[in-house]
Amino acid sequence: MTDADSHPLGEPGAERAGRIAALLAELRRQGIADERVLAALARVPRERFVSPDLARQAWENAALPIGEGQTISQPYVVARMTEALALTGGERVLEIGTGSGYQTAVLAELGATVVSVERHAPLARAAARLLADLGHDVAIHVGDGSLGWPPDAPYDRILVAAAAPRVPAPLLGQLSPDGGRLVLPVGPAADQDLVAVERRGPETVESRIGPVRFVPLIGRAGWPGREDEER
Ligand code: SAH
Repeated sequence: MTDADSHPLGEPGAERAGRIAALLAELRRQGIADERVLAALARVPRERFVSPDLARQAWENAALPIGEGQTISQPYVVARMTEALALTGGERVLEIGTGSGYQTAVLAELGATVVSVERHAPLARAAARLLADLGHDVAIHVGDGSLGWPPDAPYDRILVAAAAPRVPAPLLGQLSPDGGRLVLPVGPAADQDLVAVERRGPETVESRIGPVRFVPLIGRAGWPGREDEER
């Protein structure tokens, strides 16, 4: 083993490569078939998106805490949502709920131009710093993403990483009418469906992808937040 094989966090290269291979094998078994998506996941150093004490669990197929009561999404869910976006490269993508920035990095790896909105400023700051450090040119904004991000609309794709009570109307309005696609979890805490909505001119076609569990989308076109909640 050479130094070049070691990850900066100290895990030997071969061990890390083994963990990545095991995760990809599990994702394939779970039905992820898009090799471009799997390759993008393998390229994004997930250990960098969690705190150092969780780095050894970074390649497990699990959501992990990232602070502010939020979690980094499970790799399977990131893969499934990314696959559902059907990116071919060059799309303008709006992401709601930056969190750690992990999903953001996967989208950027696939050649998307990403605009991401996060309501917790500390998470947005940390994600912006890390993504820049990894060489991704991504715009991260602090705000209520349930209202989308009008300045850069329309978007070819919109991905929402928090569960909404229903498809937020402002997001539909910011989706390209010409084949634009929105992927988001819809439903209350214990009963959410991953939904894809495609715009074909004036029509929208909705399909269900499967059951998921996300933190709530808190905002004007999402769930109400607690009065005393820190913003
Ligand atoms: N995909 C991210 C995890 C996102 S967790 C990752 O892999 O790290 C969902 C995120 O949505 C949380 O960070 C939460 O703060 C954020 N969120 C919830 N409601 C929001 C809103 N209305 N606007 C923007 N972000 C929101």
